[in-house]
Amino acid sequence: MPELVVENLKKSFAGNAVLEDIGFTVAEGEFFTLLGPSGCGKSTTLSCVAGLEHPDSGTIRVGDRVFFDGDPRTTVPPEARNLGLVFQSYALWPHMTIADNLALPLKLRKVTKTERKRLIDDALDKVDMLHLRDRYPHQLSGGQQQRVALARGIVYAPGVLLLDEPLSNLDAKMRDQARVWLKSLQREVGITTVYVTHDQIEAMSLSDRIAVFMDGRLQQVGTPTEIYETPATPEVAGFIGRCNLLAGRVDEAPSDSGTVRVELGTTGEHLRVVRTDGVRAGQSATVGLRSERITLADRADAAGDGVNVLRATVKQCSYTGARFEYELAVGDLALHAESPVRHEGREINLLIRPEDCLLYPGPSSPAG
Ligand code: ADP
Ligand code: MG
Repeated sequence: MPELVVENLKKSFAGNAVLEDIGFTVAEGEFFTLLGPSGCGKSTTLSCVAGLEHPDSGTIRVGDRVFFDGDPRTTVPPEARNLGLVFQSYALWPHMTIADNLALPLKLRKVTKTERKRLIDDALDKVDMLHLRDRYPHQLSGGQQQRVALARGIVYAPGVLLLDEPLSNLDAKMRDQARVWLKSLQREVGITTVYVTHDQIEAMSLSDRIAVFMDGRLQQVGTPTEIYETPATPEVAGFIGRCNLLAGRVDEAPSDSGTVRVELGTTGEHLRVVRTDGVRAGQSATVGLRSERITLADRADAAGDGVNVLRATVKQCSYTGARFEYELAVGDLALHAESPVRHEGREINLLIRPEDCLLYPGPSSPAG
């Protein structure tokens, strides 16, 4: 299975730029996800790869085959790209059995009848649907129809599999199960896969690497660990997981200890955070702090060496079963935190390790 290379992709609709200079490489056999809020350009990118949309400029290649080149203009039609496509709507033909639905793309490719049967049964077996091959789509649950759509996407051994929000019509529990089998199916088939979702949990759990999109631009490409632990921008930090973004100002030049002091908000609270390159004393900054990295403590002296202690007021505490979620105020800043235990007091200490703080120069804009 070849790699997919997308370079300098640009696309506008009626003068509105939707994709600005998108570029990424998906390695052979890799599960690669385009993640971002609704409307950021994920489906448009996937459609350009599929050949359903035409970019204004850029290049798209799979292996040594050029699918699109803006200069000189080259466009390979969708049917000649040999890609597997699965969309949110399953798009199965209602008047055809499951097996016949899968036969269609094979007939288009002039595959013989005996070979068709072998390929269809093999694909249905991979998604555990072989026993339902002679049913009609309306006789299947949503989850089963989605599996059939997937089997149809792989039945003709496409070079690359393109999936656009394929699980979002399933209810939460089925989606969790579908994630597990989708991942094992992709591993088993070993097919290069580009997956589109707005769901960060889905992206984190399925992907080898994730490209985070916002407003038609790539913010960061990395493994789930890289994206979560070292988000490139406050916007990425805010979009992945639950991250407090605290406005502040760098208080002093970076010290030898590798930390800097940041004044938070306007009420004189301070945090010592691990420094990042390019921050200067007096500069405005944003501190990213994940909810689950804040330890709540009744006593401030529970803090170890070098650990920040902030005094917070509890505004609200909700019980979610697995944990308690706290809405807090520190000076004029609002924070969200989590704890496995219930703290009764109205005032509480927040213990925060400098290495758990993400420091970004400049003010933040709210995440999409
Ligand atoms: P996503 O899949 O990330 O939700 P899309 O790629 O579908 O986003 O859309 C990106 C932007 O492009 C949106 O603002 C959308 O309204 C616009 N858009 C998408 N397709 C068309 C189209 N055919 N004509 C005009 N605008 C479009
Ligand atoms: Mg979309």
